[in-house]
Amino acid sequence: MIMSVNKNDQVSRAHMSAAERRARSQLAQLLSQRGVIRGTLLMRKRKCGKANCRCARGEGHESMFLVVSENGRTRQLFVPKDWESRVRLWVEDYHHARELMEEVSRIYWDKVRNRQD
Ligand SMILES: [Zn+2]
Repeated sequence: MIMSVNKNDQVSRAHMSAAERRARSQLAQLLSQRGVIRGTLLMRKRKCGKANCRCARGEGHESMFLVVSENGRTRQLFVPKDWESRVRLWVEDYHHARELMEEVSRIYWDKVRNRQD
């Protein structure tokens, strides 16, 4: 990646296409108001650890896990029941934010390809 610090790297909104402005403002809004978390949700049976719970001899409780790979390693995080709906939204919002980033990225890919300021 080439890093340069240059005032000319700043893009003015006036020069943006409508599509770019839309993607950028959706992304900015999303990131300023919502949580985002990268990972895949997985439902698995889990033993809660209480000796007298029905799960100790049975199948375990249906539980949510967030699975994420980082630097080639897979990490798993148990999501408590009362966090499940929030975490679902954060995972969805992460995907949405990523799509918006991709949209902006494609626009800039084309700028480079077409030598367009
Ligand atoms: Zn249990």
